[in-house]
Amino acid sequence: NEFNDLKINELILKAIKESGYINPTPIQKQAIPKLLEGADLLASAQTGTGKTAAFAIPMIEHINNLNVDAKKHDIKGLILTPTRELANQIFDNFNNYSKYLKIKTNVIYGGVSQKRQEDNLAKGTDILVATPGRLLDLINQRIINLSKVKFLVLDEADQMLDMGFIKDVYRIIKYIPKERQTMLFSATMPKSIEELSNDILNNPIRVAV
Ligand code: AMP
Repeated sequence: NEFNDLKINELILKAIKESGYINPTPIQKQAIPKLLEGADLLASAQTGTGKTAAFAIPMIEHINNLNVDAKKHDIKGLILTPTRELANQIFDNFNNYSKYLKIKTNVIYGGVSQKRQEDNLAKGTDILVATPGRLLDLINQRIINLSKVKFLVLDEADQMLDMGFIKDVYRIIKYIPKERQTMLFSATMPKSIEELSNDILNNPIRVAV
């Protein structure tokens, strides 16, 4: 059961292999084939399980297959995550797996000047990694538009809840079309996360590692 068996682009496989990955981790084995089929996902998984690649690889494959005008870099994939550190890690992962493709990934987070992030966004973005507060600021300033998003990930949902981001998350999701694939990852599943998943996921597959 190797990465070779997955129905994904050769250039993504090449990048994965160059990262030194040989076998998918348990969450990757369980989630990637279903995500490639378009299912929603509710996953109980901690950092260190390989969860980032579990959502990044299928998202890159889907977006690469959209075959849109190469110059039109609308935001098609969005990853919400609680902290700057996590945002940067996810951004690095996406850049790594998509390095042989024409996909632009961008990252935004609060606590730093908006200017440079704005300049980067002006160059186009296919996949955006964001913390909720800064994203909402940029939406409200009409700098970011989420009307073309087709793939949404909520990463570390319980931590976003603990940090008081849950209202922002609900506000952001209102800007995203209902017709989309949604993936929610959380280390723990308190009642509020179950409620959130009932609100935003459509008949999800459930994975716990
Ligand atoms: P994550 O849980 O997404 O933070 O990933 C934890 C670490 O595992 C990261 O350093 C990844 O690069 C690495 N990793 C992810 N998938 C695999 C894999 N299939 N084989 C080996 N390492 C992996």
